[in-house]
Amino acid sequence: MICQYFFGITNKEMNESKTFKNYINGQWLDASTHDTFEQRNPSRLSEVTGLFPLSSKEDTRLAIEAAQSAFTEWKILSPFARAKYLKKVLALMIERREDIAQIITLENGKIVSDSLGEIDSAIAEMEFQINEGLRLFGETVPVSIDGVFAYTVKEPLGVVSVISPWNFPFNVPVRKIIPALMAGNTCVFKPASLTPQTGYMFTKLFDEGGIPAGVLNMITGLGSVVGNILVTDPRIKAISFTGSTEVGMGIHQKASVNATRTQLELGGKNATVILEDADIDLAVKAVTRAAFACSGQWCTSTSRAIVVKKVAQEFIEKLVKATNAIIVGDGFDQNAGMGPVCGTDQFENIKKYIESGKKEGAILLAGGNEVRNNHLKEGCFIEPTIFVGVKPDMKIAQEEIFGPVLSVITVENFEEAIKVSNDIVFGLSSSIFTNNLKHAMTFVQQTEVGFTHVNLMTSLKEPQLPFGGIKESGVGMPEAGKTGIEFFIKYKTVYMKYS
Ligand code: NAD
Repeated sequence: MICQYFFGITNKEMNESKTFKNYINGQWLDASTHDTFEQRNPSRLSEVTGLFPLSSKEDTRLAIEAAQSAFTEWKILSPFARAKYLKKVLALMIERREDIAQIITLENGKIVSDSLGEIDSAIAEMEFQINEGLRLFGETVPVSIDGVFAYTVKEPLGVVSVISPWNFPFNVPVRKIIPALMAGNTCVFKPASLTPQTGYMFTKLFDEGGIPAGVLNMITGLGSVVGNILVTDPRIKAISFTGSTEVGMGIHQKASVNATRTQLELGGKNATVILEDADIDLAVKAVTRAAFACSGQWCTSTSRAIVVKKVAQEFIEKLVKATNAIIVGDGFDQNAGMGPVCGTDQFENIKKYIESGKKEGAILLAGGNEVRNNHLKEGCFIEPTIFVGVKPDMKIAQEEIFGPVLSVITVENFEEAIKVSNDIVFGLSSSIFTNNLKHAMTFVQQTEVGFTHVNLMTSLKEPQLPFGGIKESGVGMPEAGKTGIEFFIKYKTVYMKYS
């Protein structure tokens, strides 16, 4: 049990054992100011899980400098040599799977089985991207001039920055950093301040795996300080960011000053449409999982269920029953099906949305309260919540809540369902449950998202396929699949006269 981790030691020893460092140029360093910030367990807010460097602009510039120096050697290594380093890291990741899962649950709150799922997903993505890095093929192209041979080569960009969120604190860095490094770039990584120890666990794998100094650097601190330098420093050639739409849009603007390439994976408000000919039990299972797993804090969580009138009653009754069966508890409790939300800001924000839903006239059919029983009152626990009678223009139907709150919208027919599902600024994921091929195909054609599903939940993804949103859910090339590495390379076209 992770709570035994700090058991039986004095406060001073506890602070020393829990103090973490930045990783710059192959060395573990404090912030130059020696300032730190603390992280707290969202299941028990009195527990400080660690102290982390509150890094300055200068520290961040030092990390960029280290990455810049390391680029000279790393870029000329053969991809096979890069793969060798990363395979060592992968082997350590597999070996430490259980330990890393404990830290994810400690910091993020998600139940241990979901933390393990996150690592397994990261392992699969890492394997795929290492192999993609060995397939960075160019083209040979016929040209109109005799005696000239022409071809393309793919080259790295230089130093890239990776800024990641707290909801997938392990998988998101893997999805970005592995293709970046395999393509020959060097990297400065900033984990989210709610999950810095997971960032440390991730970086430690590279350190122990023997990655050359400066190839990967990790630095913790404020988004407005560390993040800002990682976005505006002219030595940064690409920014891969996952986080909120608000911060992402700000990054997009700032990056334009130096014409820095961006890959921005942002917020979502994902809809699942349920038609009259759907397998309702299947739909209920998928919506319950995608709405409430990780307390609704997947970017691909289902936060809107759009159901046609004919089957609305059956769907809602079964959905409420399945939702009420979810046991809320500490992520380390094996009986828990849903942990806390990640931190007090999330907690307060979600409660505001629940109040807003009530005020706007939506009907609360499940949950709606913070959990105040037993020891859970010490953490950020919110009941899985369902609103029905939601109108498409209500705040709870339009804005990303990022919590265990599902809005059920009843519509007359398929055409209205499509209109409602698209009438939103976001465009990450969607899904439809139907056995009507024409409706399925029409939905796939008309849904305004980066990836969609038929008779599957909105969160399903595989490493070999692109992962990213459109509209205000994403800018630039999607992560994962072939585009995952394509984002981190530039093309060079070569014309060679040989006779
Ligand atoms: P956030 O935008 O608050 O923070 C994300 C990261 O950006 C953190 O590391 C943060 O410190 C940093 N940051 C904050 N301000 C910054 C600034 N001014 N400049 C540079 N960096 C800055 O997001 P979050 O709360 O950590 O994550 C939740 C959000 O992430 C949700 O909106 C969710 O939908 C989104 N998300 C999207 C995807 C996707 O693939 N589309 C995946 C996971 C999460």
